[in-house]
Amino acid sequence: MPDWKTHIVIGLLVALGWAAAFPALGIASSLEKTASLAFVAAFTSIFPDIDTRNSKMRGVFALAVAASVGGAYAYFSPATWYYALAYFALLYALAKHLPTKHRGITHTLPFAVLFSAAAVLVYVGFKQPFAFIDAAAWFGIALSAYSAHLLADSF
Ligand SMILES: [Zn+2]
Repeated sequence: MPDWKTHIVIGLLVALGWAAAFPALGIASSLEKTASLAFVAAFTSIFPDIDTRNSKMRGVFALAVAASVGGAYAYFSPATWYYALAYFALLYALAKHLPTKHRGITHTLPFAVLFSAAAVLVYVGFKQPFAFIDAAAWFGIALSAYSAHLLADSF
């Protein structure tokens, strides 16, 4: 079973393939696009292992969820801000240590398609106005990096 570093390297190779295909696909390349392409491919290639309790992605996810909820509580209820610390600790522990089945739903093709669609929504949300071809490429990049993880796990 490849570790997260191997998965990132595979994801970046997928990104390299996409970057090389951009001219043939009629997609203008820029430094910004190349950097975001590499980021999406790297992030996507390690995301499926969020179902492992000691994965890097699980730790990042737990921290992001706990910090968002704790931060939102402190922001909207400044009089009792200290409860935010309890929410943070509780949510972090829960998100980090809740038992999940490894290679369960996050290691399926339908989930890969859903994840890629969500990645496109994030892209479209941040990039206004956006070109349809760019959104389609974003979907293809996320789906191929995700699928490369599933493929690598099967060896
Ligand atoms: Zn995996």
